[in-house]
Amino acid sequence: MTHEPVTTRGARIPVARPDLSGKERDYVAECIATGWVSSQGAFVEEFERRMAASIGTTYAVATSNGTTALHLALAGLGIGPGDEVIVPTLTFIATANAVTFTGATPVLVDVEPITWGMDPVCVERAITPRTKAILPVHLYGQPCAMDALMDIAARHGLAVVEDVAEAHGATSRGVRAGAIGTVGCFSFFGNKIVTTGEGGMVTTNDRACYERMRVLRDHGMSKERRYWHDVVGYNYRLTNIQAAIGCAQLERFDATIRARDAIAAAYTMRLADDSRIVCPPQVLGARSVCWLYTARLDERATAPARDALLAALQRECFDCRPVFFPLHTMPPYARADAFPVAERIARTGFTLPTYVGLGEDVIARICDAVRRSL
Ligand SMILES: *Cc1c(COP(=O)(O)O)cnc(C)c1O
Repeated sequence: MTHEPVTTRGARIPVARPDLSGKERDYVAECIATGWVSSQGAFVEEFERRMAASIGTTYAVATSNGTTALHLALAGLGIGPGDEVIVPTLTFIATANAVTFTGATPVLVDVEPITWGMDPVCVERAITPRTKAILPVHLYGQPCAMDALMDIAARHGLAVVEDVAEAHGATSRGVRAGAIGTVGCFSFFGNKIVTTGEGGMVTTNDRACYERMRVLRDHGMSKERRYWHDVVGYNYRLTNIQAAIGCAQLERFDATIRARDAIAAAYTMRLADDSRIVCPPQVLGARSVCWLYTARLDERATAPARDALLAALQRECFDCRPVFFPLHTMPPYARADAFPVAERIARTGFTLPTYVGLGEDVIARICDAVRRSL
C-alpha cells in the first residue's frame, strides 16, 4: 500500500494507507525478540482490554479479521439454520456472508437517504417469526438510527449485531458504536481506522455470548479441559504480532480521529457549496467518524456521470472508488425487490482519498479535479 507507482504527474494518491508511525515497530520487534509471535502473548489480552475500555463494554474478543468477528458474534448468539437476520443491502458483502456462514438467511432491507444506514421502517416490515437479529452497519463512519433500531429490537426480542468495521470511534447519543447493540464487530484491515494488517474484534456486555465466543474462536476447546471439545469451533484467533500493532494504533486513536475529522472538514469546505454534490451529513445526536470520505452526486446524476468523474480523477492520479454495489444486485444475494434508496446511493456515490498524512494541499487539488470534471 505504501509503494505507489510514480507517474509523470507525480505519485499516485491512494484511497487509503495505514499510519504505522508510532510504537508499532517497537512492539512487533518485542514479539520477535521474545518469540511470542502466535496467538498467545501479552499483546492480545492487552489489545482486548484497551478495546473494551475505549468502546465502553465489559468484554472484547480479538479475532483474525472483521468477517470472522461477525461470524463469531452471530455464532456466539446461537444464530443458525432456520433463523433470519436483517441486513442492509448497502454494505460490504462480508456483512451478509457472515450470516450465510451460520446457515441463517440474510434478509435484505433498504437504507435511509441521509445516514445510508438500515431504514427502521423497512426493518420493522421485514420481521417474521424466524427473525433472530438485526445487523446495522454504520456505513462510511456514520451511525445508523440506533434509537429506533434498538426500540424495534426490544419490542420484538431481537439481538442487535453492530457492524462497526467502518465506524470505529463513532457515537450515538454519546455511546460508542459497538457498545449500543448486543455485540459490536470491528475490522482492523489495512484501510480501516485502526489496523493490525488483518484483524477484528467483538465487543459485548453479554457474558454468556462472550464465553461462547472465546470457546468457538479456539476450535471449540473447553476452557477447563485442554484438548476437550464439546462443540465444533473455528480458528479465528488474532496473533500477538497483530495485537502488538493494534496496541500501538490505539495509543494514537484520539489523534487519528482528529486528523480524519480535519480531512472530512477540508473536503466538505471545498465541495459543499456545489449543488451537484451531496457531502456526508452531520446528524443530530450522532458523532460520525471519517473512514473514507464518501460523497454523492445529486439525485439527477446517472451512473455513467459518476463513473466519468471517477475515471477523470484516476487520470489525474487520484485513486477513488464507487460506493459498494448493493448486495441484491450481485449473484449470491440477487433479489427481485427494489431497494430504491440504496440503488440511488450506489449509482451516485464516490469515495475520495482519506488517510492520516493526506495534506490539505492535495485535498485542494482533488477538489479542483472533482469540480473541473463535473
Ligand atoms: C471491512 C468490512 C468488513 C470485513 O472486515 P475484514 O476485516 O476485511 O474481514 C465487514 N463489514 C464492513 C462494513 C466492512 O467495511
